[in-house]
Amino acid sequence: ALAATSWDRTAAAMLEAIAAIAPAPARPHYDVLVVGAGFAGSVMAERLAADGGKRVLVIDRRPHIAGNAFDEKDAAGILIHRYGPHIFHTNSAEIVDYLSRFTDWRPYEHRVLAAVRDRLVPVPINRTTLNVLFDAGLETDAEAAAFLAERAEPVADVRTSEDVVVSAVGRELYRLFFQGYTRKQWGLDPSELDKAVTARVPTRTDTDDRYFTDTHQAMPAQGFTAMFAAMLDHPNIELRLGTDFAAVRDAIDYDLLVFTGPIDEYFGHCYGRLPYRSLRFAHETLSTEWHQPVAVVNYPDEAVPHTRVTEYKHLTGQHAPVTSVTFEYPSAEGDPYYPIPRPENQALFKRYEALALAEPKVVFVGRLATYRYYNMDQVVGQALATYRKLKLRTAEETLA
Ligand code: FAD
Ligand code: UDP
Repeated sequence: ALAATSWDRTAAAMLEAIAAIAPAPARPHYDVLVVGAGFAGSVMAERLAADGGKRVLVIDRRPHIAGNAFDEKDAAGILIHRYGPHIFHTNSAEIVDYLSRFTDWRPYEHRVLAAVRDRLVPVPINRTTLNVLFDAGLETDAEAAAFLAERAEPVADVRTSEDVVVSAVGRELYRLFFQGYTRKQWGLDPSELDKAVTARVPTRTDTDDRYFTDTHQAMPAQGFTAMFAAMLDHPNIELRLGTDFAAVRDAIDYDLLVFTGPIDEYFGHCYGRLPYRSLRFAHETLSTEWHQPVAVVNYPDEAVPHTRVTEYKHLTGQHAPVTSVTFEYPSAEGDPYYPIPRPENQALFKRYEALALAEPKVVFVGRLATYRYYNMDQVVGQALATYRKLKLRTAEETLA
């Protein structure tokens, strides 16, 4: 009854009239909006803020930083990788120096065994693998090379993931190690995939059983998430997690957008969907100290539904009476993890890339935004190079 006086009614009407003519509240302004807090987004944000002096807003639709490299302690206190095993390796001193500003390292050389014919044998295929599987008694590189050459099937034009392997080791080893694993992992036969996919795994005639031969192989001493937290800890960087680009794209004002999500999503899938392969991760804690002799065991047998099992304590050096492992089940549905390297997918990507190049105030960086099957170090290198180009462009515009 009190609010119903004629004075109150007049005041309310005046407030309404003012609201109608007043400008809408200004959209908050940032120099840069970065979509995605994985390697691509975090490196870009760090450079733009710390070197470029820009005010940067970083958003990620997930409730955490670090993208697919995210690690966390599970209920048993074991540091696990939520999106499967991530091992840092690179030949670039520049990339190591850059990341070393945000983390110390635990030296670690990755070794993988494959479950083949009821045995665990080293991959990449090397002399030891051949000796264990075939009782071949090969003593030198030359003997191993001759053993493989006898089996290899020459392929005139190596184009597919089948060609690469068959031309190096022959069909028997191809079937034992590559065909089933690849069919499971990609939902495609190796003959349908670009040669770059299986070419990631070399063949050796020596007894080097390391998965990678890069000059630098290590794990961030406190984990990947801690490294990302240090990278994003800058007064010019603001972070909003659990925030999708779609929810803020019209609510925030920015001069530059750095987009690290799927490029086809950015353009509303206007040319159709780019295929990405997904995985389901089954995390388990086992009440035994160790589950397997190395960090990763691959299961190339198509009858086994998972592709590999990771035991994290091997990677991190953590000590505990129990152990945590992850089984990977490939899947067509789910978060996009792997661009699928095939000529027709690359052609579709090129159409999206042409649209991207025509967007002057947006840069596309990272594995999903540039549709490249990149390792972490390659994404860091791509982001550092993108930042350098942006800086140069700004300097030229200032001079012009
Ligand atoms: P991502 O890490 O995918 O980050 C992109 C981020 O953007 C995500 O967090 C996502 O939530 C966010 N995002 C996307 N769209 C939107 C949107 N619309 N709004 C808001 N946020 C959005 N590399 C190695 O070097 N060594 C390894 O051992 C290794 N193992 C791997 C194992 C697996 C199972 C997988 C899948 C990858 C592995 N990689 C490995 C590759 C590595 O994960 C990538 O190179 C790297 O994480 C890519 O970083 P990115 O920033 O490009 O993408
Ligand atoms: N691959 C395989 N058998 C193996 C290991 C790898 O067939 O034991 C093939 C498979 O197609 C896989 C690709 O080689 O997707 C690249 O392997 P990598 O270990 O680099 O895969 P990622 O760690 O990126 O999943």
